[in-house]
This record gives sequence, C-alpha cells and structure tokens, in this order.
Amino acid sequence: MGKTGYFTHPDCRKHDMGRGHPECPQRLDAIEDRLLASQLLDVVDRREAPLASTELLELAHDRMHVASIVGLAEEVRQQEDAGGYELVHIDPDTAMNRHSLNAALRGAGAAIAATDAVIAGELENAFCAVRPPGHHATHRRAMGFCIFNNIAVAARYALDRHGLKRVAIVDFDVHHGNGTEDILSGDDRVLMVGIFQHPFYPHSGFGAHADNMVNVPVPAYTKGPAIRELIEKNWLPRLEEFRPEMIFVSAGFDAHREDDLGQLGLVEADYQWMTMKIKEVADKYAQGRIVSSLEGGYNLSALGRSVEAHVRELAGV
Ligand SMILES: [Zn+2]
Repeated sequence: MGKTGYFTHPDCRKHDMGRGHPECPQRLDAIEDRLLASQLLDVVDRREAPLASTELLELAHDRMHVASIVGLAEEVRQQEDAGGYELVHIDPDTAMNRHSLNAALRGAGAAIAATDAVIAGELENAFCAVRPPGHHATHRRAMGFCIFNNIAVAARYALDRHGLKRVAIVDFDVHHGNGTEDILSGDDRVLMVGIFQHPFYPHSGFGAHADNMVNVPVPAYTKGPAIRELIEKNWLPRLEEFRPEMIFVSAGFDAHREDDLGQLGLVEADYQWMTMKIKEVADKYAQGRIVSSLEGGYNLSALGRSVEAHVRELAGV
C-alpha cells in the first residue's frame, strides 16, 4: 500500500471573503478536526503547500488573468493600509483580502507539489485541503469563489512538464466545473467526467460540448443510488476506454444532503464509493496515481465527515 499525502498551508485559512460567507476559513478547521479525531492525520504524509509560480499558472490561465489577480492583491493591500475596506470584490460571490493571493498560490501549489510527489512515486495519492477552491476559475477569469483553477493547472503540469499522455479529471462537486471545462475542452489528452445539479449555478455543462467532456447533469433532490447508477453508466466506461495515466479529482462535498448550497442527496458512503471507483480505475491504468483537491462543501459537519470518508478510502485504511 502506498502513502497518501495531505497538502495544506496556514495561508489558506487567512483568505477570508467576509462575515457570513459560506466559503469560510472554518471549513479547513472542520476538515482538520475530523481527520485528527479519526486518527487519519497519523496515517497521511502531511506536507506544506508551496506557492505556485506565475509560469505554471499560465499553463491553464491567460497571463492577463494572473496579472490582474496580482494587481488586485496589491490594490487591496493599499486600500486597507490607507484605512479603507479590507476586501476587493471580483464578482458578487468572490472577493480577495490581503492574504487571498498567497492562499490561491498555495492552492495551485499544493496540486502541483502533489503531482510531483505522486509521479515521483514518493506518494501513491494525495488530498489537498486548500482554499480558495478552483473549478469555476476559467482561462481568463476568477468567479464563483475560485481564483486559480488548481486542478486544471496541475493536470496541464502533469501533461506538459512531466510528459504524461492522458490524464482524467473527476469532478463530483454539486456545481458544474465550468472553469475546468473552459480550460480543457477539446484537449484530447484530458478526459473530464462530472456530475452536477442542473439547472443550477453556473448554468453551464449541458447541451453541446467537446468529446473529452462527460457531463452528467442531474435534477435537484437526486439521491446516492441514482447518482451511483449514472456514474456506472456514464463515467466508468469512458474512463476505462481512456486509460488515464493519472487521475485528478475536483473534490467538492456540497452535493451532501446536509449542504444547503446544493439540493442533491449524497451521504458519506457515496463519497467513499466514488473514491473507491476512482481508485479502481487508477489502480488498473495509472499506478494508483490520484491527486484530489478540495472544491466546495459548506456544511461544516458534513464536510468534515465526507472528507474523512474520501481520505480514508484514498489511504486504504
Ligand atoms: Zn460547489
């Protein structure tokens, strides 16, 4: 059994979009508390997430997007130092404080470092407990709580810098990973499979799309058994056919039935089952290589329990 990495950094806790925002620093505390109480933190190989370089962010993002985020970080610092407001808003849901740039760089840096460690064989797989999340960030813009697309950056990094030929992305967040689709649509070295509530934010992922995108929109109130059936029918044959050399996971836990940001009905056992299925494909074709990164999940208790189920399955304990 290989080792499971756990990448995180205190900077990710300092990114704060204001009182009452569901994408809050306490999400990381909930995860950490739960992994500590369940003794999973004793099992995983804990590592500090480094800062991603601009150059590597540009594997997935337009350089103007990266430059504009760096510029906004400077703006918020100046604004706060002058006694002004401590946030700048990118869209109605997404804001930066003075720590957000470093948090976002650690988020992408975690996925990159995890990719290095897994490809080097130091780790079999890894989970990145980071925020901000990434899967709504498109080639050119931040949106929907996301600044840089951590998983898309890491997938491109595995392809362009490590020379892998085929990588798969699995996205089980309740929201469609529109940013990842925007960046990787039509890149035949990538197969992306996703399941998400529809109709719902960000109102994409249905209708015509590139062949390398397997989108499974499901109506509100769909429960675990129906979702498992759809995954077996739609994801698994495509993953088998594609034979990925590595699998990236956009691990959002907001499809949990206790999560009020979405209206799907998954429970911890469903996250465990999905992780097991991902692992089966990874074991068969990809030497077990999986890098998973936190996306959504806003009910703190359900988030902690669901991440525990996911990491327990990754670690095989
Ligand atoms: Zn989400």
